[in-house]
Order: sequence, then structure tokens, then C-alpha cells
Amino acid sequence: MVKAVSKDFIWELLEKIPDPEIPAVSIVDLGITREVIFKDDQIHITITPTYSGCPAISFMKKEIVRSLEQNGINNYQIHTTLSPPWTTDWMSDEVKAKLSDAGIAPPGKLVHCPQCDTKNVEVISEFGSTACKALYKCNDCQEPFHHFKQF
Ligand SMILES: [Zn+2]
Repeated sequence: MVKAVSKDFIWELLEKIPDPEIPAVSIVDLGITREVIFKDDQIHITITPTYSGCPAISFMKKEIVRSLEQNGINNYQIHTTLSPPWTTDWMSDEVKAKLSDAGIAPPGKLVHCPQCDTKNVEVISEFGSTACKALYKCNDCQEPFHHFKQF
């Protein structure tokens, strides 16, 4: 017996799954979840990792499976696609604002301090805690912060 669920319900579940690296935003916010398609009694969910070889992808898959099964949904398939590749252009301004609120400078050519908004910043490490983020220091307020790199 296939549980009748709507596409909107699936999207709502996915929107509750935080990005493993940046818990302030969901995997839907980041554009990792590409599409949800209902076909032949199966729910097909397609995801694209934020960068190729991202170790977070298996974690995200696990979280999606957990969320679906908790809601009694077992007729699903999760697909991973690398084409077209994920880019930071898929982030909406709203998501960039969420990143900023979380103390992470959103992607962009000009890096601003998320605390005081100055451009007087310097890079400390191109590779912060993860490959997606670089570590910066603000020269005005002296606060270190992460910058979500532009892809
Ligand atoms: Zn600052």
C-alpha cells in the first residue's frame, strides 16, 4: 500500500533537513535538492552535492531517508546528479541573508564582514573547516569569520 502524499509534503520534509556544514540553512535553501518527481508509484528525489566529492552528500542522503521513513514513506528513490554542477548562483538572496545572520559571509566577489559589513578583511586560510568555506579575519572588528566560497 503506497501512502498518498503530496509533492508539497515531500518538499516540506526536505526543507527541514539542515545542511550538515551550515545548520542555519536547509538543503533546499542551498539548492542541493533539485527535484521531486512522482512516477510509477515512486517518489524520485534528485540531489546535487555542493561540490564534487563533498563528504556531506552521504550524510544528507541518510537524513532524507530517515525523514521519509519516519513519515511512513518507503516508495522513494534518491538520485545524485553532478550535471549541471551546483553553483552558488542557485542561492537566493534570502538564503544569503540567512548565511550572513549565521556569521558566514555569503558567496560573492567582494567579501564583507558579516558582523560590521566592512570590506577591510583579510584571508587567513583558503580552506577553513571545510573545502566550501574560507577563513577570514575582519581588520575593523577583529572577528574571524567564514566565507562561503563562490563557485
Ligand atoms: Zn567586522
